[in-house]
Amino acid sequence: MSPVAEALKTVAATLPAGVELVAVSKFHPAEAIAEAYSAGQRIFGESRVQELSAKIPALPADIRWHFIGHLQTNKVRKLLEAGPIALIESVDSERVLDAIDAESARLGITSRVLMQVHVAAEETKFGFTPEEIEAYFRDRRFESLRATHICGLMGMATNTDDTARIAADFKAIADLRKQILAIAPDLRGFDTLSMGMSDDYPLAIEAGSNLVRVGTAIFGARAY
Ligand SMILES: *Cc1c(COP(=O)(O)O)cnc(C)c1O
Repeated sequence: MSPVAEALKTVAATLPAGVELVAVSKFHPAEAIAEAYSAGQRIFGESRVQELSAKIPALPADIRWHFIGHLQTNKVRKLLEAGPIALIESVDSERVLDAIDAESARLGITSRVLMQVHVAAEETKFGFTPEEIEAYFRDRRFESLRATHICGLMGMATNTDDTARIAADFKAIADLRKQILAIAPDLRGFDTLSMGMSDDYPLAIEAGSNLVRVGTAIFGARAY
């Protein structure tokens, strides 16, 4: 078994039923993805439009690609034209959300997205604040979307060794999802909670994550 297949198996074995795994393959070559694919993995996460556009045609068509990087409005068309994107996890502004909706309508597709929420202590992380997301749903602005389905939330915990802080960040994101469902009880399919990376995904699962994004623990360190 290849080292990637071995590591994938190890990670997958730790996931309870109902938790899906995104193998984060950014900065790793198509060959590494092919190894994970051969070992049964079907969901892969990429963070750059250019890199994803090159990988999609080089790899099997039944891969479900998740976009997890910061998306600029002027790259939305290129992303959606690169091939079917199963889930855009990193929608971090209404401007990008509206651009995705307009381009999806133009292409005659429906895009599935998550709203990225910012709760971590770092100022550099992208995302909506919890207050912005609550206001978005309270004002029912989602009703103006024609070709986009908001499937839930994605978030990251503070980058720290303090497990209590990490757990609290994940709980804040999970609580926000419940809060949104209380604000808009008629929302359908707002089920996905994407939380947890190589170093903290067990804590994320404890907090209710049902989608973990694991890169390093599967593919090894990235060479940026
Ligand atoms: C790179 C990345 C990951 C994977 O991180 P690892 O620590 O390598 O598991 C997960 N989520 C996002 C949004 C990322 O950019």
